[in-house]
Amino acid sequence: MKRLCLVILALSLLMLGCGGEKQKASDKLQVAASFYPMAEFARNVGGDKAEVFALVPDGAEAHDWEPSPADLSRLGRAQVFVYNGIVEPWAKQALNALSERKILAVQTGLGLYERGGEVVEEEHHEHGHNCSHGKQDPHVWISPKKAMVQVERITATLCEADEKNAKYYQDNSAKYVEQIRALDIQLTNLAKNAPRKVFVTAHAAFGHLADDYGLKQMAVNGLSPHAEPTPADLQRLIKVVKEENVRNVFFETLTDPKLAQLVADETGAQVAVLDPLEGLSAEGRKKNLDYLQIMQQNIHNLQIALYAK
Ligand SMILES: [Zn+2]
Repeated sequence: MKRLCLVILALSLLMLGCGGEKQKASDKLQVAASFYPMAEFARNVGGDKAEVFALVPDGAEAHDWEPSPADLSRLGRAQVFVYNGIVEPWAKQALNALSERKILAVQTGLGLYERGGEVVEEEHHEHGHNCSHGKQDPHVWISPKKAMVQVERITATLCEADEKNAKYYQDNSAKYVEQIRALDIQLTNLAKNAPRKVFVTAHAAFGHLADDYGLKQMAVNGLSPHAEPTPADLQRLIKVVKEENVRNVFFETLTDPKLAQLVADETGAQVAVLDPLEGLSAEGRKKNLDYLQIMQQNIHNLQIALYAK
């Protein structure tokens, strides 16, 4: 209900704003993206011809976020809306409420959420969303294979919304997809030759990456960025690490390093970071890192974990 009220409120704001909004501040294609990786993909395709903004601000948790009336009114001024699907349960309702605005929306993850491999020990992913319940897993952007599909879909939508610049978007897209394909090739080789195929993460955000490259993710219950793990959660993690002879345990960028250290001390494993790229971490912002660079770090850290003696 709260959401509906927000939508109605935003609509009335829009009505008020209608008269003065005619002349746009920029003649660039206005692209709204839901959260970080969607904005990043859209920026790489849109280049100088598009103005891309993310609705979910840097550093905010994408899954828990809900649009304010001001956000909805901002979305209402966009020509294109890029979203992943499932992570943004508010998207469909917002689009319905803004239907008069004729925003060209693209759900980039459509049809990609189904996990092929077995889903193990992920039922308790306390992440504020249903990402790992059943086999519908929204974290598709973390697999380069699926990220490439998402970029292609964004490209098609930008071309449709702004036909005169279609060639420009297609060229940008081709270059960007090539860079993602380089990650894909790296991951394929790394996984194929890895002596260990299992990796342990706190957050079950790497399932598509595991599936697509023949690896196995074991995610730890209750160790989400904002859920305090119980002693039982920690015991379970320690057991898994010992049983699987895992040498590295991955924690999310935002997880308290004290816990990671505790698990490492108990098991002799090393602690490393995998970034689920749901938002740009403080470090990412400070160093001005992008999707490609952070994925490169992820691949580097995965390599250490899978090849550790
Ligand atoms: Zn997630």
